[in-house]
Amino acid sequence: MNWELTNGTIVTPDHVIHNGALTIGADKFLKVDKKPVGDAKIQIDLNGLIVMPGLINGHDHLLGTYMPRVGDRKPYMNWLVWDNDLKSAPVYAERQQIESKDLYLLGAFRHLLCGVTSVQDHIPHFVQDMFKDGLPIRILDKYAVAHSITSFALKWGDTVENEYRLAVERNIPFIAHCSEGYDEETIRSVSVLNEKNALGKNTVLIHGIAFSPEDIKLLSQNECNVVWCPASNIYMFDKTAPVKELLDQKVNVCLGTDSPMSGSVNMFEEIYFAKKYFESAYGVELNSKTLLNMVTKNPAKAFSLENLGAIETGNLADFIIVNGDKSRPYDALHSMNYEDIMLVVINGRPKYGDESFIPLFEALNLSFQKVKVDSFKKIVDGDILGLLERIRNSVGFHKELEFMPVETW
Ligand SMILES: [Zn+2]
Repeated sequence: MNWELTNGTIVTPDHVIHNGALTIGADKFLKVDKKPVGDAKIQIDLNGLIVMPGLINGHDHLLGTYMPRVGDRKPYMNWLVWDNDLKSAPVYAERQQIESKDLYLLGAFRHLLCGVTSVQDHIPHFVQDMFKDGLPIRILDKYAVAHSITSFALKWGDTVENEYRLAVERNIPFIAHCSEGYDEETIRSVSVLNEKNALGKNTVLIHGIAFSPEDIKLLSQNECNVVWCPASNIYMFDKTAPVKELLDQKVNVCLGTDSPMSGSVNMFEEIYFAKKYFESAYGVELNSKTLLNMVTKNPAKAFSLENLGAIETGNLADFIIVNGDKSRPYDALHSMNYEDIMLVVINGRPKYGDESFIPLFEALNLSFQKVKVDSFKKIVDGDILGLLERIRNSVGFHKELEFMPVETW
């Protein structure tokens, strides 16, 4: 059944359509314009609310969805030293009591509540394949992979050369942690990729805190993509990627939260952190439109998601409706909180929303659970309360998770 939203402030994100209308049919945008098609049985007036593409999180490890953060020996030399601290931490033992499928669900709901509709889950396929079905958001599952580019990397895929070749053949991303630390091998990661002819438009490098000016030149010349994870980087290394230099050299930069055991609590915090960090490090503002691109069209390009990242006729209907100042719609991104997320739609299907959207869920015959999120009344497709109960039963106490401030309504 087709349905229409009218009178929205649509951030496509290349431009803004004031008093715009969306017509959704099955999983796609049938029309994005000033005027709706007009024949849909369901039509909702948004009264100026802001509509953006669904956010795409460029980096996470869904199995690591737990908290608090781990690691008191920072700045770390590289991920391996931190990983040893993680594996010996009491909170890791606590997390291990939870079923992996519930950690995946927890990670997916953590994102859904913030308007994230797609996530890059950095993990070998054989692990992700066991848990990716039935999650409330989209998991990017077409990728070639390396854990990282050093001799002590985990053996997640085939060789770097073969994984990269596969990525080019299939036009999928080749994703790897890169230049995340201070040891000699980590610092040489981009040179090594260059020697292996593995730099190109399918290459997606995560972190990049050790990128040199020469590295940035190589990434720019080869049209590579970078996922910036400032909160995680500053927490573990007291340093993050030279993001302004990357942007100045026209490298395609995306934003990622990383897991909450090193990174930000959620996407709201990551976006806010990125903006504040940029301004304090460079003394200039990180433009709101640039920031929105980092969580919409840039990751769509990096991960070869041709029908996502923009609100356009024919694209998959992934979008969010947000409360904010419609005269400055791009700025809504960095001031968002749980209260402001009014509706999240994935593949044309509402998955989460404010209580005021109950009539839409009912008109579309969608079931939902009523929950309070940070005390605001919301509805969600899925049993989020049952999930929290299973997790608390698994660990044996009433665990509070800052990224999941959910209770019964
Ligand atoms: Zn990572």
